[in-house]
Amino acid sequence: MGVEGKNMWKSNEEVRDLTERYVMKTYGRFPIAPVRGEGCRLWDADGREYLDFVAGLAVCNLGHCHPRVVRAIREQAGTLLHVSNLYHIPWQSALARTIVENSFGDRVFFCNSGAEANEAAIKLVRRYEHAIRGGERTEILTMTNSFHGRTLTTVAATGQEKIKKGFDPIAAGFRHVPFDDRDALREAIGEKTCAILVEPIQGEGGIICPADDYLSFLRSVCDEKDLLLVFDEVQVGIGRTGTLFAHESFGVAPDIMTLAKGLGGGVAIGAMVASDRVAAAFTPGSHASTFGGNPLATAAGLATLETILEEGVLDNCRRVGRYLREGLEELAGRHPGLVREVRGRGLLQAMDLAVAGGPIVEACMSRGLLINCTADTVLRFLPPLIVTMADVDAMLATLESVFASTFADGEGVV
Ligand SMILES: *Cc1c(COP(=O)(O)O)cnc(C)c1O
Repeated sequence: MGVEGKNMWKSNEEVRDLTERYVMKTYGRFPIAPVRGEGCRLWDADGREYLDFVAGLAVCNLGHCHPRVVRAIREQAGTLLHVSNLYHIPWQSALARTIVENSFGDRVFFCNSGAEANEAAIKLVRRYEHAIRGGERTEILTMTNSFHGRTLTTVAATGQEKIKKGFDPIAAGFRHVPFDDRDALREAIGEKTCAILVEPIQGEGGIICPADDYLSFLRSVCDEKDLLLVFDEVQVGIGRTGTLFAHESFGVAPDIMTLAKGLGGGVAIGAMVASDRVAAAFTPGSHASTFGGNPLATAAGLATLETILEEGVLDNCRRVGRYLREGLEELAGRHPGLVREVRGRGLLQAMDLAVAGGPIVEACMSRGLLINCTADTVLRFLPPLIVTMADVDAMLATLESVFASTFADGEGVV
């Protein structure tokens, strides 16, 4: 079978059978196969349309197939797809400049995913301690309930037992402390501590927002104890919370920041951004990635960031984010026994339920709406940042109808 043409897959079932037969079973998948996307809409292999409030889990921040990103990819594909980091790569340099000019950072290292970006950050932290600071400290504090990736070292950094289970020996060098708990953090800092790695808002952990001054507390502790502060912005960065990087709205800057998901507008890319002082620990040969910063991915990243910065995407995120939040709160108000809390920032919003969220996600899908559930009970809403208020109205109407038909009196599962 050829790989060209838009309608090569006859049905969801055909794709499902292929997956079941040939793909490793690392994912619990829903039974649909999206094959085409445009803006906030997806179509599956049966031709069914969906309103997408998942956006590839915060990857498709400009929606599916944004024309400016598609044009950049098309042009790049016909110009130069790949060249080694043995040479200068203009699109990589330009994307680094755009990131630096719009962040605390001075220098960027490119890779291909969030886990790799965190690996690079962890390596830089350790190397900085040895090469620049001349110390022997090796322990990085991370948070309970955090998520930093699936490589062996980022699994060690991740503060969730279920993600480490069965992969012993787990890499040393990390200690977990409860998120947003100042006393626990102060107590955990020891002679071996060299850095704190934290998500500004915990994503996979259930959209947990810390107190407004928690990140600045971390900054002051790091300054006091000479520790590096690392923000994992893989999920919350690239405009998701209404500012280009989530930490901006907390009025604090890290020493290192990691990016991935939304950075390439749908194309795989990761980045690790650092101040000059810290970045100086990496010298030629310290770290590398064959595909990191390749022409295709960085051309896509450049088009993505330029679109976000030039086309009012952050304004839309804040405005529609507020509208979504109000709508979710109204809905929650009508189902007090069912909804424990609505929380989030910008277009990273969540509804914490008193019951499991999985059946709600499935019921929404059968009504043409894609939402996500994380941490068992937390419905997560991550629409593209170009989403409209009309899309939010449609999403809320579907969710309302699912609540009405799934819960007899708003108190429990029928
Ligand atoms: C998704 C995610 C990662 C891992 O990214 P991959 O691209 O899947 O490796 C790391 N950190 C956070 C906060 C994430 O949400």
